[in-house]
Amino acid sequence: MHINFGKSTVVPMHVGNDVVQECVGLLGCRQEGFSHTYLGLPLSNEKLNMAAMAPLFRRSDRYLAGWQPALLIHKSRTVLINAVLDALPTYLMSALQLPLGAIDKYDEQRRAFLWSGEDTVSGAQCLVAWDVVTGPLEKGGLRVRDIAVQNNCMLLKLIHRMFTAMDSSWVRWVRSRADLSNLTGDMEGTHWPGLRQLLPIYQSITSTAALYRLVLSVTSLDYNFYKFVWKRRAPQRIRFFGWLMVQGRIQCKTNLLKNIVDDDNCDVCGATGENTDHIMFGCSFTRSFWTAIGVGLPPNPSMSRPCELQWPSSIPTKHWDTLAVLCYWQVWKHRNKVIFRKEPPSLA
Ligand SMILES: [Zn+2]
Repeated sequence: MHINFGKSTVVPMHVGNDVVQECVGLLGCRQEGFSHTYLGLPLSNEKLNMAAMAPLFRRSDRYLAGWQPALLIHKSRTVLINAVLDALPTYLMSALQLPLGAIDKYDEQRRAFLWSGEDTVSGAQCLVAWDVVTGPLEKGGLRVRDIAVQNNCMLLKLIHRMFTAMDSSWVRWVRSRADLSNLTGDMEGTHWPGLRQLLPIYQSITSTAALYRLVLSVTSLDYNFYKFVWKRRAPQRIRFFGWLMVQGRIQCKTNLLKNIVDDDNCDVCGATGENTDHIMFGCSFTRSFWTAIGVGLPPNPSMSRPCELQWPSSIPTKHWDTLAVLCYWQVWKHRNKVIFRKEPPSLA
């Protein structure tokens, strides 16, 4: 392999100008300064700025321009976010702390793609708060990455390398200069304060008592709607609808009242206060629907307990929750037909 000096650059550090000029003359390379790209990472002697993140956003823009969100249901957009956009900054984050502005901008891009399918999105278009969306499925989220948390986790792995990867020359260099108990020593650079801040977390998760608390918190998750929504044999579109529904975030009139509709009257039965509970349980039409298919409602039915329907004994228990999701979906579709296609309410 030959080095192409015409395509290479010299970036001097702690070297006098005469020596630099001699090197440049000998090698025939261009001289450049920081910031600089090295092995795909922005290298800088100062705190990284947004300009250093431009290559990341060029890549995400390229992907976003190639997708056709108008043709994708929300769940499919989520899959693209999970599989592609969430993974793009992984390499950067394994070595660097992303600037806060970059994290905000990346959130804006992903949020707009999910909810509006365009470059921008208004607050009203975001049906569920972003900090819920970025939670795990088991906590009611969509498993979209919280980039700041992911960045910290990857830097914790970098700290872990300092304690374990003795075959790395970088680790040997750090260990020859730094006190690993507090990461101070003969080192300069803007990334060390960030790593120092994370060090107590690393120290705490490597203690038995902290691990005990962590394992306990993971294994004692409260019951939530995770299984009800996602562990069903229903099309993705319906499962995503279920995810919005159990959080009361479907576009019923009470949710649209502020800016989009003038009243919150139910178009099916005429009652006021058309919210999720009304549509699924309170509406006189929906009640006759449940009766017609032989399903009983609990005393105070609520979307906070979506699977408490009383099914006829002829239907096997294992199908109850799937049927419930499908029934809720049909009630919602019927309601939309009445509103948007002006069809009369009908059980047929
Ligand atoms: Zn009604």
